[in-house]
Amino acid sequence: MKINFIDLQAQYLEYQSEIDSEVLEVFSSAQFIGGEKLNTLERDLATYTGAEHAIGCSSGTDALLLALMALDIGQGDEVITTPFTFIATAEVIAFLGAKPVFVDIDEESYNIDPTKIENVITDKTKAIMPVSLYGQCADMDAINEIAKKHDIPVIEDACQSFGATYKGKKSCNLSTIGCTSFFPSKPLGAYGDGGAIFTNDDELATKMRMLLNHGQNERYKHKYIGINGRLDAVQAAVLNVKLKHFDKEVKARDDIGSRYSDLLEDANVITPSIAQDCTSVYAQYSVRAKDREELVAKLSALEIPTAVHYPVPLHLQEAFIYLGYKEGDFPISEVVSTQIMSLPMSPYLTEAQQDFIVKSIKGE
Ligand SMILES: *Cc1c(COP(=O)(O)O)cnc(C)c1O
Repeated sequence: MKINFIDLQAQYLEYQSEIDSEVLEVFSSAQFIGGEKLNTLERDLATYTGAEHAIGCSSGTDALLLALMALDIGQGDEVITTPFTFIATAEVIAFLGAKPVFVDIDEESYNIDPTKIENVITDKTKAIMPVSLYGQCADMDAINEIAKKHDIPVIEDACQSFGATYKGKKSCNLSTIGCTSFFPSKPLGAYGDGGAIFTNDDELATKMRMLLNHGQNERYKHKYIGINGRLDAVQAAVLNVKLKHFDKEVKARDDIGSRYSDLLEDANVITPSIAQDCTSVYAQYSVRAKDREELVAKLSALEIPTAVHYPVPLHLQEAFIYLGYKEGDFPISEVVSTQIMSLPMSPYLTEAQQDFIVKSIKGE
């Protein structure tokens, strides 16, 4: 049985005629940057999330970078985040000369533990950047409350959680700024790099729009030092098609994720714990196994692909040695990183494939 980790090919075949015609329209219009496809996408992303402003940009990483730039974060500033995430989250903080300040995760959700945030707030803290990992939102109410008390903004790294809900509200519209990624394998994926920034703050929206276009307020008039962080029209065209079908895919992801958890209830792995008032888009369906390397090898022998998100927490990465953290500083992130593994997940995973994966895990 052939199983893909994420089945992007099946998805393309499903929407092929729509995607081809949208993309060909871009080719024949020769409007490759900006234009109608991008305007449509931004309007529909705003409607989807409920955010006042949705701004397409070049990647999830650039979305996070632009959010920090818009908040004037740089040298000497501190930004609180989680060490259990993809490097981009902390990379952009460090890239701007600010200091990533890590806080350990909650063992159930794998997201930043809000009860540990206040301990590390200083007068240099300029933002809190929680990550909504694997497709489930961080505990944004608790985080926003702390942020409000200390008058600091919150940037949601929603690169894995576009489409997820938190207490009835959509991810990306839960804090000062929300950032997502349209990397092909994300829940809403383009056919190349892409991302988006969300906010309800008019001034921040205007500033981020300028920053992603070299800080221009009008052509060749540069108000800020910016970047080339635009989303191109071909990616917008692909995303316009996929966004139309997205609710159906989110439902399928939820069904498949729940089915995994039901079937794996009596297996020797810890399944994801989704909070009562949240839904996950299962960017990854990740389980914890005490004997991970053994299980990965067993599944690999049966040609079942798996992946580890993430094997080394950021405070132990070579690039962040200069921060001075050491092993033992974030024990939950450290133990989870030795046990976590992601199983094949996409809206196109069939029940037969899923049954085979589950049986293989259980050794049946
Ligand atoms: C994918 C991802 C990013 C970066 O997004 P890109 O579009 O690849 O730049 C940032 N943070 C998290 C948590 C991610 O999963």
